Amino acid sequence: MPKLLHPAGLCPFAARKCRVRYHEGMKLRRVTFLLLFVAAASVAQQRQLKPGWNLFSKQQDVQMGKEYAAQIEKQVPVVRNSELDAYLQRIGQKLASRPEADSYPYTFKLVNDKSINAFALPGGPTYVHTGLIAAAENEDQLAGVMAHEIAHVALRHGTNQASKAQLISLPAMLAGALAGGDSITGMLAQIGIGLGANSVLMKFSRNAERDADLLGARIMNGAGYNPIEMARFFEKLEAEAGKGSAIGQFFSDHPNPGNRVKSVQDEIRYLPQKKYAAASGELPQMKKLIEDLPAPRKPGRQAVPSAGPTGSQDPAASRPSGRFKQYQGREVSFLHPDNWDVFGERGSDQVTILNQSAVFGQQIGYGMIASFFESPSRRSDLRSDTAQLLEQLRRDNPSMRVTENPRRFRLNNLQAMYARLQSDSPFRGSREIDLVVTIDRPGGLYYFVFIAPESEYPGVQNAFDQVLRSVRFAN
Ligand code: ZN
Repeated sequence: MPKLLHPAGLCPFAARKCRVRYHEGMKLRRVTFLLLFVAAASVAQQRQLKPGWNLFSKQQDVQMGKEYAAQIEKQVPVVRNSELDAYLQRIGQKLASRPEADSYPYTFKLVNDKSINAFALPGGPTYVHTGLIAAAENEDQLAGVMAHEIAHVALRHGTNQASKAQLISLPAMLAGALAGGDSITGMLAQIGIGLGANSVLMKFSRNAERDADLLGARIMNGAGYNPIEMARFFEKLEAEAGKGSAIGQFFSDHPNPGNRVKSVQDEIRYLPQKKYAAASGELPQMKKLIEDLPAPRKPGRQAVPSAGPTGSQDPAASRPSGRFKQYQGREVSFLHPDNWDVFGERGSDQVTILNQSAVFGQQIGYGMIASFFESPSRRSDLRSDTAQLLEQLRRDNPSMRVTENPRRFRLNNLQAMYARLQSDSPFRGSREIDLVVTIDRPGGLYYFVFIAPESEYPGVQNAFDQVLRSVRFAN
């Protein structure tokens, strides 16, 4: 706070001298207030909300969601009641049609389950438990939980988290899934990702929760629901969760980011003023219908998906041709061997490039991964981010060990590091060399992992060098 030279009316000085000092004080105060105001305005900006980096394409989110939805609907009792269903669709569509929901093919289904829960799968399928409707005090609260779930879908939190957790096996899996046209969830199951308890796709971080609250608030506001009801409902449920009620799962998947009401209130200040008139007044009637629903049937068992494709055991089949093609991403461009195909979202900066014959289920035997690694500290320090990336790679593949520690070098005038690792190769009886190259970028690293069987490595180094020499960034 600005310090007053002396408060009005308490001047200890003689009148004239004092007036001068007093006025100086006023000016000083005004300037300080102005500075404080400018500082506060620049700090307290409305938070930018957009999806984090992701190895999956948006289409893959959608495909995954459809496959999981088919599995889930065999296991949970979906309510077939036209009135309840129509009610849920009306609310859902009002929210999903907001531009912030990013036009995923959202679906809304009611699950006959007394526990207070709701969840959304990547790409849009959204489920609301009857227990949640029973617990909501008003339609805005119900819409609030749905908007929060929609926000997780639009911000792609599930696949963002999976991408961060599986830096090597996921690109391999995605290349395999695309090459074979296989079920994406079947491939995910092979690398240990499913929808079970604590699934990386469904258990969100506190940061993701805060962002889902904020984007959910924008969606609600746009649809004519009062965003504060979402935060109030969460806080009310959390207060009750301590008393052993049936809300455990929701807060285990959606941990409280803290100060929910306050942060939604802050967000509302940025939103266009609305009369919150969307609520239909039908909630009491719907609660009555829910009370009259027959008891749910017992859930079935989940089928275990089959194994993915297996590559050729002859590494020569996946060797680079010696000729190159240009890859153009959003910010990055580079050359790659022309007999290797690009997998991942075309035109993005996260791609896996290889010959299909080098994919063995969840492992790549030969090829390259190009991707972005978000700085965990958000400080963007080349050395420590590279160390974190290597640690993450080794968590993802426990057979991996560093054989040459990271060293700095300049790559086309960019600050870069390289490290060499070794691991088990999917080519039988072979070891594999993984060359990791990291490039300093705003917010983290752009990195390449070049993968080859040890016996192939001397012959392929030249091709990897060519790729690296061609790397350019748009800015
Ligand atoms: Zn959440």
